[in-house]
Amino acid sequence: MTTLAFLGLGAMGDPMAAHLARYAAAHDLNALVWNRTDWKAQAHARAHGSRAVTLEEAARADVIFTCLPTSVEVSEVLGGMEPQLKRGAVWVDCTSGHPQAAPAQRERLAACGVTLLDAPVSGGTAGAQAGTLTIMVGGPAEALEMVRPHLAFAGKVVHVGQSGAGFAVKAINNALLGVTLWATGEGLAVLARSGVNLGAALEVINASSGRSNASQNLIGQRVLTREFPATFALGLLAKDAGIAADLTGEVRGSAPLLAQTAALLRAAERLVGADEDHTAALKLIEQMNDLELK
Ligand code: NDP
Repeated sequence: MTTLAFLGLGAMGDPMAAHLARYAAAHDLNALVWNRTDWKAQAHARAHGSRAVTLEEAARADVIFTCLPTSVEVSEVLGGMEPQLKRGAVWVDCTSGHPQAAPAQRERLAACGVTLLDAPVSGGTAGAQAGTLTIMVGGPAEALEMVRPHLAFAGKVVHVGQSGAGFAVKAINNALLGVTLWATGEGLAVLARSGVNLGAALEVINASSGRSNASQNLIGQRVLTREFPATFALGLLAKDAGIAADLTGEVRGSAPLLAQTAALLRAAERLVGADEDHTAALKLIEQMNDLELK
């Protein structure tokens, strides 16, 4: 019987693993879960019918999913599993990882007979709960075809290239989120200082050419309401924009806007707080303009 294991039951991993458990039950497969803080895995098992296991047991699965903060934690977890890994298995890393980490990760796994797919996801916690995430996959196409039926949390799956390409696309996507979020915050701060009502301004922008995901789905709902619900940490967005800046350097590209956004998000992470919601980055713009966006 095919065994699927999901490691990392955070804001994203918990609902993703819930879809996997439901899919496994419907197809007579085993669904294992592991989390550093064990009670969350036990709670997942009770709520969704998965089985909470040790890392050693998870290592013997046919398909291993990870959704951890960065490639550093994936590498640490992998270190505890290498001796037990099953030859022929596929490791699907849904972490928003670093493209420069992919070769070492791939080679360590290849030495154990395991194929790596970098498969970061987009769609937020709402997409994870709905099972409609976009997955951008780097790595061998044959391995993707093997695991494709098991991607129970996906709305869209795109093979974007070789190993590391998924991580690269994810970093650039999130850098673009950072650019539009920050730029829209700046624009609204200027309008607020001009005495314009921000709800009315956002209504216009959202029906005009300046609109974006940030203006349509984030700023009105999270910033103007002052709610800032923490679903995607500012520290993680700053990390992703930093990866995009690293990638620019690695390919000797020229992307000053992305570099500047990465630096601004790093400053916001430090001054506003890494665990705050990513939209709280706009609190730094508020300080710079001595006002609140509301
Ligand atoms: P969370 O902080 O909610 O969860 C992190 C998970 O990683 C937890 O299960 C945590 O375990 C585990 N973890 C942290 N450090 C370690 C470690 N040293 N060893 C083992 N496990 C560890 O993060 P998210 O779920 O929000 O994000 C996960 C990934 O998904 C990130 O790469 C993020 O950039 C990406 N992402 C997030 C989105 C979002 O909207 N939140 C959207 C798309 C991608 P524990 O419970 O013990 O703390």
